[in-house]
Amino acid sequence: MAIHERSLVEPERILRKERLVIDGVDVSGDWNLIILPRVINDYDLDFAKDVMNSPDGKTITQCYQCSYCTASCPVHNYWDERYNPRHFIYLARLGMIDELQKRADVMWRCVSCHKCTHRCPKGVLVEEVLKAILRAMAKKGLVEEYPSKKFDKFFTESVLEYGRIEDGELLFGWIEKQGYRVFKDPILKKPIPFIGETPEWLKQLTVKPLKSMNIGFLVLNAKHMLFHPRTKNWSKFKQVLRKVMQEEGALH
Ligand code: SF4
Ligand code: SF4
Repeated sequence: MAIHERSLVEPERILRKERLVIDGVDVSGDWNLIILPRVINDYDLDFAKDVMNSPDGKTITQCYQCSYCTASCPVHNYWDERYNPRHFIYLARLGMIDELQKRADVMWRCVSCHKCTHRCPKGVLVEEVLKAILRAMAKKGLVEEYPSKKFDKFFTESVLEYGRIEDGELLFGWIEKQGYRVFKDPILKKPIPFIGETPEWLKQLTVKPLKSMNIGFLVLNAKHMLFHPRTKNWSKFKQVLRKVMQEEGALH
C-alpha cells in the first residue's frame, strides 16, 4: 500500500552524497539516494476501525494509494504540501495516530472542492473519509474541534433566534467572536461595520462588492442590521424547532 512522496520522508532519514564514485563509476545525484528504514511500534488499529465503521469513513478500505486525490487537491498544490489526502488515509489505515497528529494543524484545511473524490479511480469518498478521520481524532481529544463547526453553531443560533439571517450582522458578529473589537451602537448594541478592528482581508473582501451594490439594497441591509426583523410568529416556532434539534442531537 505504501507509496511515498519525497516530501513525506523526514530529511534526517535521507542520505545522499553530492558526489559519489564507486569502482570508478560516478553515481552522483539521485542514484545514490538512500532512505534509512524506520521501525514503527506505536500504532492503534482500533483507530482505523473507528474510521472504517463510521458511515462516512467506509470507503477508506477501497483506497489503493494511487495518489490521484493528492495530485488534484488545490490545498496540497497551492497552499501547503503537508496537506496530503492520500497520506492521511495511509496513516489512518495503519493507525499511526502520532504521525497524523503531527499534521493536525493542516488537516482541517480541506476546502470541500471534491476534486479528489471525482478523480479517485476506486470510488473512495475522499473528503468524507478525511472528515471521518478528523472526527475520530477529535473524539479521542487528539485534535481541536473542527473550526468551521464553530461557525456552524454561530450560524444556527442566529437562525434559531430570528428565523432568518442578516449577512452583515452574521459577518460582524462572527468577527467579534474571533476576538476582534467590533464597535456597536450605544442603544441597540448592534455592530457598526468597519469601525473597530475589522481585519484588512475582510475590508478588501467586502468593499469591492459593496461599491457595485444598489444603494436601496445597502440602505435596507443597514436598516435590518440595526432593527433585526424576525420571521412572523417566530418565538413559538423557535421553541419547537429548538426542541426537535435537541432531540435529534443537532444542537450541542
Ligand atoms: S485517488 Fe482514491 S485510491 Fe487513489 S490514493 Fe486517493 S483515495 Fe486512494
Ligand atoms: S475536497 Fe478537500 S481534500 Fe479533496 S481535493 Fe478538495 S481540498 Fe483537497
